[in-house]
Amino acid sequence: MGILDEDIARVRDQTDIVAFISESVALKRVGQRYSGLCPFHQEKTPSFSVNPDGYYYCFGCQASGDAITFMRETEHLDFVEAVERLAQRSGITLRYDDKSVQKDRSRRSRLVEAVTAAVAHYHTLLLESSDGGPARKYLRGRGFDGDAARRFVLGYSPDEWDVLSRHLQQQKFSRDDIVSAGLAFVNKANRLQDQFRGRLMFPIYDTRGEAVGFGGRALGDDGPKYKNSPETPIYQKSRLLYGLNWAKADIVARGEAVICEGYTDVMAYALAGAPNAVATCGTALADDHAKMLKNLARRVILAYDGDAAGAGAADRWYRWEQELELEVRVADLPAGKDPGDLWRDTPDQLLPSLERAQPFLQFRVDRVLAAADLTTIEGRARAAEAAARMVAEHPSELVRDQYVIQLAGSLDLDADGVRSQVARAAMEPRRDAQHRRPSRPEHEGESEQPPEPVEPLRVDRRELDVLRWAVHDPALVADWLDEALFLDPVARGAYDLLVSSQDMHQAIDAAEGPVRHLLERLAVEDPQADDEPTTVRARLIVNTVDPVAKRMLARMLRDGDERARTVMVELDAVAHGREVGDWSRAQEAAMQLVRWVVTEARQSAQNGEGASGGNTRVEQEA
Ligand SMILES: [Zn+2]
Repeated sequence: MGILDEDIARVRDQTDIVAFISESVALKRVGQRYSGLCPFHQEKTPSFSVNPDGYYYCFGCQASGDAITFMRETEHLDFVEAVERLAQRSGITLRYDDKSVQKDRSRRSRLVEAVTAAVAHYHTLLLESSDGGPARKYLRGRGFDGDAARRFVLGYSPDEWDVLSRHLQQQKFSRDDIVSAGLAFVNKANRLQDQFRGRLMFPIYDTRGEAVGFGGRALGDDGPKYKNSPETPIYQKSRLLYGLNWAKADIVARGEAVICEGYTDVMAYALAGAPNAVATCGTALADDHAKMLKNLARRVILAYDGDAAGAGAADRWYRWEQELELEVRVADLPAGKDPGDLWRDTPDQLLPSLERAQPFLQFRVDRVLAAADLTTIEGRARAAEAAARMVAEHPSELVRDQYVIQLAGSLDLDADGVRSQVARAAMEPRRDAQHRRPSRPEHEGESEQPPEPVEPLRVDRRELDVLRWAVHDPALVADWLDEALFLDPVARGAYDLLVSSQDMHQAIDAAEGPVRHLLERLAVEDPQADDEPTTVRARLIVNTVDPVAKRMLARMLRDGDERARTVMVELDAVAHGREVGDWSRAQEAAMQLVRWVVTEARQSAQNGEGASGGNTRVEQEA
């Protein structure tokens, strides 16, 4: 459920897109349109064009959309947030198509108000109360002064039962508000008891800058050292990063996010001149976090003990590097020290720790070499074996080979020897591997050459997913999937063979090269069924059509095609449905897009423009 369609239309119609975009881009009138330097890619001559009818399009990077898209992309908001912000701007009161959503929204703001009041109260207690002394002393001991405490709105929760609860009740917050906001719980005596006691308090904000919870550090010996707010409707730790509200703009500007483990580490970097640092809130860095960061920056630097983050997480880093195109580096911190320690002892070391950050694999290989005894042949061989196992885990053959050459150099070994060691390591089953690529049948003795490491295919993740379902549960895709929906030629080739063959064996036999490799992989990979079939189906349609429909839209905008507006409306409906979890609505709009994309492709094939229906580059060159 979400915002009423007619209200979304109202927001779109009443937003003066030229005035809106002019707030961030200098636009000049050129005929009917306005033109300026594209905010989505680096350029010196303007190729970004805004149509007063409500659309923008960039001839350089093909960015396109309407005011809602522009707000989403530049402010990094989701669809609903973007519409809400634009509505505010135009003075439109939005209605939601479900009363419960309206209720949820006001419930949410009530909880945020309660946490905000708690932040203020704890902050005052830290700065002014006499029993806040130990908290102030602890901060000073870590190198943080009063200005730092004010900048990060730190607080102090006294070691008493209900200081905060009583204060909030005086401010007319109900018991239910206070408990639901995670600030207190009802104890056995049926009385409110504060969640945090005797702790230094770090308020945690969401990306909009609304206070949603706390991390609390123990000042005495009681209880766990760190304690966080319980999960509440506004505090979900897998979707929160401490400090992101302050760091967001700098992360975007620098194209880089620093990820710490502790709240004081974030403060340390910010005070040292790296305001692009964030921390997870009492949880490991998860997929959701990586996706949040990916929208903001291309590179993340892990500013914690890389060995601890190390081996077990390698798969995850590489997967993020591949799927999210995130570059993962490890900060160069002295062994056993975190950024907070550096701030206290040698603050001038903080920025260099980031400048000297290394790619994750380099960091691990260096550790192995540093620990090895390189003075003996046996020591060098052992180091080579250990390093080869790490290098073998990297999915890119090019990257692996660079490391082979480097290793051979540092260990004074023959590069071919190291290379075959890496290749052998790649064939060994890994202890922690769950989704290892299937190993090739071995032909030992038939050839003297070591087996070549298998280069994983770089097929678009969404296209891979829909193909998995096409193989394992064709009923889910049979009535809508079409070759026109594939942008990746390898995926399209695989799909064509699947459709024209009687079974998987026949398809594989008929295939060659990367298409064959992909089909072989599909034969052994199961799709992830983590939802109801109807939801899986809807999500597949949405995810499959989204990129190709956007390409179609970009082409229509470029050509001044009037149908662009209707395509955009459906794309908005898809985005909206997806974000509020209304999959049937998203699917309805997505199916409309599927029909258009397929029809377009058929027509342009007839006109001899190529069959893909979306191959912008080819058409531009033609
Ligand atoms: Zn551009």
